[in-house]
Amino acid sequence: MSEGKCYLCGRIIKKRGAIRHLKKCLKEETIEKKVDVFHIGLFAYRDYWLHIEVPVDYTLRDLDQFIRDIWVECCGHLSEFYTHKDMQCSMEMRTKLKNALKVGDEFFYIYDFGDSTEITLKVIEQRKGPGFRILMRNLPIEFECKICGKKANLVCPYCYETFCDKCAEQHAAEEGENDIDFMLPIVNSPRCGVCGYEGSEKYGDI
Ligand SMILES: [Zn+2]
Ligand SMILES: [Zn+2]
Ligand SMILES: [Zn+2]
Ligand SMILES: [Zn+2]
Repeated sequence: MSEGKCYLCGRIIKKRGAIRHLKKCLKEETIEKKVDVFHIGLFAYRDYWLHIEVPVDYTLRDLDQFIRDIWVECCGHLSEFYTHKDMQCSMEMRTKLKNALKVGDEFFYIYDFGDSTEITLKVIEQRKGPGFRILMRNLPIEFECKICGKKANLVCPYCYETFCDKCAEQHAAEEGENDIDFMLPIVNSPRCGVCGYEGSEKYGDI
């Protein structure tokens, strides 16, 4: 069961209890809340997920920038939001969230139309908040080395298998590479191992 860290109280919370926990934590907060915000959940494959508060006056372009910063930016690929899961009906990036979304809406995001990373977003609630902020983020997912079973810290961008430093050298030879420089670090992102993705400079792993 996936777990995440609550950025409000620092506790580790199960994914399925996230919204209930956040409601409680938000109620106990004493900070000033003057901005209209959407509580948005972001969900990608393999239990990468986020809960954030975004001012309703932000544009989809602002939201796109955040997703790039925390999860996906590798080399400036194109991205798009859609109102439908089949990637029909793209949404204008300059649109303000309040003019495009309402509570209960699901919408969808693609980064990179080659090796794409796809994210489902859900508008969970509208309320007052202090401004843009992250509420909760999944803990880094641990992967085993395919060869020795120990904790892996590298991923092969050709086959997406994961390896420890030591076994990575053996796998480099299997891939016809001279050294392990082509391998990518395992990072807390649904884009881990894809294209040249090496993690978030701005937000780190948690
Ligand atoms: Zn909390
Ligand atoms: Zn790239
Ligand atoms: Zn190993
Ligand atoms: Zn490989």
